[in-house]
Amino acid sequence: MAFVVTQLCKDCVDTACVEVCPVDCFFQPKEISADTPNMLYISPEECIDCAVCEPECPWEAIYPEEDVPEVFVSDIALNEISDTNRDAFDLAKVKEHEPPSADEVAENKEKYGL
Ligand code: SF4
Ligand code: SF4
Repeated sequence: MAFVVTQLCKDCVDTACVEVCPVDCFFQPKEISADTPNMLYISPEECIDCAVCEPECPWEAIYPEEDVPEVFVSDIALNEISDTNRDAFDLAKVKEHEPPSADEVAENKEKYGL
């Protein structure tokens, strides 16, 4: 099992999760494309399942693999490409960010029917 970043992160990418991960297993794509959307990816091979990142994500985008909502099931495989195609990724870096409002988080979830 590993933790999974879902598309709730897409275009938010505030990196709050990166700050707390003890093993630096968050990756970002070198190039944004339909196959590698603008979000972070957890390496399932490197994630140690510590669960520290999940409550730190202000967009509530991170789930344990077994709890990923149905609408985001394809994101499990999407995160895996950070291992299988590592050359296409850089280690994610912490950047300045403002936490979203509760309304922004709710609107983002509504896009996916949550
Ligand atoms: S904290 Fe959440 S929304 Fe922000 S970059 Fe990490 S996974 Fe994405
Ligand atoms: S569960 Fe722990 S090791 Fe895995 S991505 Fe989150 S903070 Fe990193």
